[in-house]
Amino acid sequence: IDLTVQHDMEKLQTTFPDFKDNYRLIKRIGEGTFSTVYKAEDMQYHRYDNKWDIDAKDHQWTPPPLRSALHAKSEPMSRHTRRKPKFVAIKKIYVTSSPARILNELELLHDLKDSLSVCPLITAFRHADQVLAILPYFRHQDFRRYYPNMTIYDMRVYFRSLFTALAAVHEKGIIHRDIKPTNFLYDPEKKRGVLVDFGLAEREGTDCKPCLCHEDRQVRKQRLHQSVAFSSAHAGPQPGYPKNDTRPSRRANRAGTRGFRAPEVLFKCTEQTTKIDIWSAGVILLTILCKRFPFFNSADDVEAMIEIATIFGSKRMKQAGQLHGCMFDTNIPTIGVQGFSFEKIMLWSTCRSDGKDAKTNALTEEERGAIEFLTRCMDLDPGRRISAEEALRHEFLQVDRE
Ligand code: ADP
Ligand code: MG
Repeated sequence: IDLTVQHDMEKLQTTFPDFKDNYRLIKRIGEGTFSTVYKAEDMQYHRYDNKWDIDAKDHQWTPPPLRSALHAKSEPMSRHTRRKPKFVAIKKIYVTSSPARILNELELLHDLKDSLSVCPLITAFRHADQVLAILPYFRHQDFRRYYPNMTIYDMRVYFRSLFTALAAVHEKGIIHRDIKPTNFLYDPEKKRGVLVDFGLAEREGTDCKPCLCHEDRQVRKQRLHQSVAFSSAHAGPQPGYPKNDTRPSRRANRAGTRGFRAPEVLFKCTEQTTKIDIWSAGVILLTILCKRFPFFNSADDVEAMIEIATIFGSKRMKQAGQLHGCMFDTNIPTIGVQGFSFEKIMLWSTCRSDGKDAKTNALTEEERGAIEFLTRCMDLDPGRRISAEEALRHEFLQVDRE
């Protein structure tokens, strides 16, 4: 065991009074930008009953079957054995996180405590500036290990589970903002997953200013013309990327992980919705279909836009920008006007096409179904993009639900 990890674990155990009576630290399981997560054994677990679902055999916590997750509102919780889990995940939130941010995460988790596909918060502790969140430990596998071998059927099961979680979160008006494989803990054996990490999550409508994308088409067109007239009078037509941009800068929430940010986040939409999570889920599906992780690999937002524009083409990208009152223009030669279909991208990246002839029949029926669903998730227009609720009714996610 790593000495620094050992040292951190010892420090944690002595910082919190009574820690040793309550938990036995086992190992470090995650280290992110905002926290360190440890697996621990709950020393008091035998004292409690009727608290959480656990798997009797191995003392692992498992959320109830998906079927009940789908009908969570109508089904009494008591149908499932609920006991306190023997193993917990202890999330030590870094002291550099602002108190407001920590409170936000704990509050949102508390709001979601009845959502069966969201990892529930058991309790939380604070000692001076240190905060610990205690969650049931959920056994899962590393995405990198299972994604290369996933069949289309496996993908349907995986996304049924992910979209069930998203539907529950979105129904509460919460945007997760950081959907990516490491924040969706999935157990391929049990075929179910739970959503974690609400560190960047926010309530829809917080810190919002009206954006053109929420207006109807006519209004948008009119306003866009006005702003074009304004900006050319203001700055004059400049070729290339403006070095000294004199336009008033826009401020919008851009929190998230690069490569998973929705186009409206990149265009600094000031009225972002839960649809940004759907885009990120789409990026996961694209990753699995193309067998490339990470799929997008940009260093910054401009590069991210270039990557998306390469797929969608400059024409659609321009339209996408206009939705939020942004002008998108480029002279990068690899960005074509029309872009490429997801079908072609999948065939190229899995080396099933040499790029010369368009072997459109090379996809199987079920692969085409996956591509169709992907197209609905990665719609550049958040207003037309599928919602989690709709997705659960989509053909692609109709899999046997136990
Ligand atoms: P961060 O904000 O640092 O990304 P996360 O909440 O995403 O923190 O947790 C980091 C990692 O810790 C996760 O990717 C996962 O591997 C592990 N982890 C978090 N919660 C649990 C849990 N309840 N059960 C098992 N592992 C967990
Ligand atoms: Mg995380």
